Amino acid sequence: MRSPLNSPLGVRRWAVWSLPRRVLAVVVLIDLLAAGFLVLHARDDIGSLRSGWPWIVLVLAVAGIVSTEASLGVERMRRRTDESPHIDLSSVWALAAAILMPALVAGAVVAVLYIHIYLRIWRRSGVPLYRFLFSLATVMLAVQSADAVTHLLAGDDPFHSGRGLAAVLLALLAYAAVNMVLIATVIVMSGSSRTLGTFVQVMCHGDEAVLEFATLSMGVLVAGAVASFGPAYAVLVLPPLIVLHRTVLVRQLEEAASTDSKTGLLNAAAWHVQAGREMRRAERINLHATVLVLDLDHFKLVNDRHGHLVGDQVLAAVAAAVRAEVRDEDIVGRFGGEEFVVLLRGIEGDDGRVAAEAVAERIRLRVAALRVAVPGSRDAVVVDGLTVSIGGATLPSDGVELGELLEVADAAMYDAKHAGRNRVRMGAGTGSQARRR
Ligand code: GH3
Ligand code: MG
Ligand code: MG
Repeated sequence: MRSPLNSPLGVRRWAVWSLPRRVLAVVVLIDLLAAGFLVLHARDDIGSLRSGWPWIVLVLAVAGIVSTEASLGVERMRRRTDESPHIDLSSVWALAAAILMPALVAGAVVAVLYIHIYLRIWRRSGVPLYRFLFSLATVMLAVQSADAVTHLLAGDDPFHSGRGLAAVLLALLAYAAVNMVLIATVIVMSGSSRTLGTFVQVMCHGDEAVLEFATLSMGVLVAGAVASFGPAYAVLVLPPLIVLHRTVLVRQLEEAASTDSKTGLLNAAAWHVQAGREMRRAERINLHATVLVLDLDHFKLVNDRHGHLVGDQVLAAVAAAVRAEVRDEDIVGRFGGEEFVVLLRGIEGDDGRVAAEAVAERIRLRVAALRVAVPGSRDAVVVDGLTVSIGGATLPSDGVELGELLEVADAAMYDAKHAGRNRVRMGAGTGSQARRR
């Protein structure tokens, strides 16, 4: 007899089996929990339906489908600038459904919305079915928790009392918390670093959390409008929702416009803007700041020997090494070619020069120790023996304007080249400010 595992459905080939065991266990557990709770509460849920519910289901499902369709254009633009994951704003409708109706019916609305998203977007971009089912299960559990909180605290009418307001706000928090915790758990378990720190980092991934709260707030407004004025009023949320979605695109384009795509560092224009701002701040509060100009030594040889593609990977590795050697608040950019710039913020000390020189020296040593392995068609190419020449200039002793500091640091970098490369040279400390004294 044919085993079901070898059936035409190709059970053995399902992408889900490629998951690590522990992740698979969590994914299956969450799927089962979501389905289990739905079944468990089904009878109570059917008994507590508010009148006119079929209209609410219809309006929320149609509005959700329309909002997904309206988002497709923006999502296409987003994918053109970045490999970013799809953003869907359907939690508006899911939370509204959870506040207005029992979890079983709200779950049906969610299922319709997510099946539509799967068919229109995820399936086409090759997202495996188990990922869809997992996302659906997390949203179902979020809906169930929001439903439970609302009805526990405010009964059937959460909209005309202070207690009701507290109930829907807590429902919003419950929805966000359940969804975010479940997704962050699986992301962290699938990664190599499974610590509490990584978990908190994934949870607090700034912009996404803000967008999620904005969407959920609109979900509460939809529920309020539907409960107070009637289901058709839900449609009024569509225009602001679409505008909200566009802000994600704007942010992404802003980021693309200020980033050097080869290295992920700031590009020259963005570095100038940020470094200029920091210089003015440093001068105002009497802090030191240092500009470092870095130029890789004989980089042309790397290209000549291994080709430009390997050269590009080496540039990316050097950029990562420089970034890793400075603090988060220091401003690192690629000036062009094989040249990088760093603005070290507010270095302490006599004039900050000694501390800055030590940082530059650390960067020089780190670059010298780099071994960049680039996978080739047969073997990996390993590039090592890289060196960098670094020039530095400090505010205020080398100048007070960013342009002045860059000039001094650039000249110092050329001094380092002439003195034999692979070394650090700091400016003479006789800039305009020093001269003025
Ligand atoms: P020096 O020690 O004097 O700085 O020698 P150099 O070879 O590093 O300097 P030069 O200015 O003569 O050459 C810079 C090289 O950097 C030439 C160019 O091929 C390479 N380069 C510039 N931009 C890129 C890039 O984006 N990718 C790659 N792979 N190479 C680049
Ligand atoms: Mg060079
Ligand atoms: Mg150069």
